[in-house]
Amino acid sequence: VVDPEAGVHDGNWRDNRHSDGKSVEFITATAGDYIWIEPTSRREFDVAIGARVVSAEGRRIQVKDDDDNELWLTPERRIKAMHPTSVQGVEDMISLGDLHEAGILRNLLIRYNENLIYTYTGSILVAVNPYQILPIYTVEQIKLYRGKKIGELPPHIFAIGDSCYNNMKRFRQDQCIVISGESGAGKTESTKLILQYLAAISGKHSWIEQQILEANPILEAFGNAKTIRNDNSSRFGKYVDIHFSKEGVIEGARIEQYLLEKSRLVSQGSDERNYHIFYCMLAGMTREERQKLELSDASNYSYLTGGGSITCDGRDDAREFADIRSAMKVLMFSDSEVWEILKLLASILHMGNIKFRGKVVDNLDATEVPDMTSLIRVAKFLGLDSRNLKEALTLKTIFAQGETVVSTLSHRHAMDVRDAFVKGIYGRLFIWIVTKVNAAIYKPHSQTRTSIGILDIFGFENFKINSFEQFCINYANENLQQFFVQHIFKLEQEEYNAENINWQHIEFVDNQDTLDMIAIKQLNIMALIDEESKFPKGTDHTMLLKLHKQQGWNKQYLKPKSDLNHSFGINHFAGVVFYDTRGFLEKNRDTFSADLLQLIHNTSNKFLQHLFIDDISMGSETRKRAPTLSAQFKKSLDALMKTLSNCQPFFIRCIKPNEYKKPMLFDRELCCRQLRYSGMMETIRIRRAGYPIRHTFREFVERYRFLIHGCPPAHRVDCFAATTKICREVLGKSDYQLGHTKVFLKDAHDLFLEQERDRV
Ligand code: ATP
Ligand code: MG
Repeated sequence: VVDPEAGVHDGNWRDNRHSDGKSVEFITATAGDYIWIEPTSRREFDVAIGARVVSAEGRRIQVKDDDDNELWLTPERRIKAMHPTSVQGVEDMISLGDLHEAGILRNLLIRYNENLIYTYTGSILVAVNPYQILPIYTVEQIKLYRGKKIGELPPHIFAIGDSCYNNMKRFRQDQCIVISGESGAGKTESTKLILQYLAAISGKHSWIEQQILEANPILEAFGNAKTIRNDNSSRFGKYVDIHFSKEGVIEGARIEQYLLEKSRLVSQGSDERNYHIFYCMLAGMTREERQKLELSDASNYSYLTGGGSITCDGRDDAREFADIRSAMKVLMFSDSEVWEILKLLASILHMGNIKFRGKVVDNLDATEVPDMTSLIRVAKFLGLDSRNLKEALTLKTIFAQGETVVSTLSHRHAMDVRDAFVKGIYGRLFIWIVTKVNAAIYKPHSQTRTSIGILDIFGFENFKINSFEQFCINYANENLQQFFVQHIFKLEQEEYNAENINWQHIEFVDNQDTLDMIAIKQLNIMALIDEESKFPKGTDHTMLLKLHKQQGWNKQYLKPKSDLNHSFGINHFAGVVFYDTRGFLEKNRDTFSADLLQLIHNTSNKFLQHLFIDDISMGSETRKRAPTLSAQFKKSLDALMKTLSNCQPFFIRCIKPNEYKKPMLFDRELCCRQLRYSGMMETIRIRRAGYPIRHTFREFVERYRFLIHGCPPAHRVDCFAATTKICREVLGKSDYQLGHTKVFLKDAHDLFLEQERDRV
């Protein structure tokens, strides 16, 4: 006995009830029927599972669920009829009758089981990582998708690339593709596929195209690393903007980078690695080069062994190094520049091997360097005097009231000074490399140029411990979410307007309040963090107290239950995240020792000096007021949002099907969580706030003409008149609307029509 009204356990399910309150009769399950089974657990990401009825015996039914479990259900178990569209799955999930989380999840699952990894939800492409090479990216496939409309062929990432390209040419408007998803979901692979598609169809096989494609191995070498989630995890965000001539030929490109993770340089989580480039260079350099840089195996460097993992399955670091080198050639890095880069990287490795030993001098903590070997190497490659370097690493100079005071640093402090130095060097090197790449691929502006931008950026994060990085990342995602929702809402309005449907009553709550609280309104969280970062006596704790004081009243702000807790919480669109404030200010200030900067000022290593040119020219007073990391990030994010808002957007939501990097394994809970974090449910909510079910008059007549007497087939009748008649007779005076070409229905209408159709 299946109760179509059962299955009301949370917001998503409630949506599916008969909204006009009409009671729905019980239907009987027979073998072959499809049903939804409610979860018995209350776990957050556990949702209803689909099942096929195998047999029914009295009040018990035997089913086989989507995870292939066979089970008997008793009448207490809450079940619900499955809409016909969910049984076989659909290519565009917006057409699902069961338009809720469970419905979407099942649709993705049954397609994924057939290696159909792409699915639309309206204008969004959902891509489930197959973790295997599928034969769907061939030259033939590229040709196939060329010039086709979305929906004409099965969903595909090439279809998105093609639409972008055609829209750009047709409307002469810039386009963008926002790719999101959690680590390992396939954002970077998707970015590459789009780039390849665009290069193939605008096809000139030009030097500039090759340069753009070759930028990737360089950026990945310096910005990607092996993590527990992804063997090739991007530890920075990027926006690649491809520029096209009026004829649609690739003219150039520009890459913008966001927020490289610098902590990885000095410490790595268990089973993780530092940036690929270090392992690649050690494996791939010639003997002579290694000797010159006084380097040995990766296993000998403490910066490379923190995660206890120096190799990466399936990666050949030596071969990669050859590729990186050739890519650097293509992008016009001179031999001497490459050598200077290697020298800096070698210095970083040697720097990590400097051992400090704490001691006490005049009752004060001090530090010495017992073995100078590594330090001397660093000094040599950085063009510094080794004694000066040692002092800058172990002492601190303070200028106060016209006097210079030198104090000793504790062991811990000396290590921090060193690590901050390394992060400072690498962070600037990374930016230099991106600038260098841009110098090769960016061609000065022609008036008539249009562009396609691809955003490959970290998705929403909520770990056990969330820090400053997660705060920035989630703030970015909050912005992208708003952009997304506004776009979807606008599309809906456009459709209603085009069909002349009255949509005034559609109300929708977006995430503006959270954005206001984080970065817009007075005394917002970012401003408070920044203020405290500039305040010499500010600490993470004083910052937290200020946050509590200024935002404690805010509905989007959460104070931990205990005062001993160091965190604050934000109610994000994807859920509540608590941020541990310890280390916030240090990370935000992102500075390093003035003594070291002074050394760089006078170094004989011109490359190193050049990397720090802005810092040097600033002078110590301006430096104190220099923009913090969050201020810089906000600025670049604002610029990004402005760029995006001038584009016609496309969205790709990447989903990681399991945590094991394995093909053919679909973890429903994991996927459910990602769906929720993707913000895709918002599309659905907006859709459901209006009329989620839409049929062209013709489709409607084809499907439902049997519900009234004497309605001829669609091709022999005025479909608008016939639709009007069917609706009036079957649905009565309820809230449906007829547009110019389509009928707009509520879920309840659809349910009722389908039941009636089953009956006749
Ligand atoms: P991160 O945020 O950590 O950078 P990401 O979303 O960029 O993660 P990718 O590096 O693109 O993830 O993908 C992770 C891995 O998944 C790839 O190295 C590849 O093995 C596999 N993968 C992703 N997409 C595809 C695809 N379309 N076909 C085959 N394999 C894929
Ligand atoms: Mg990536």
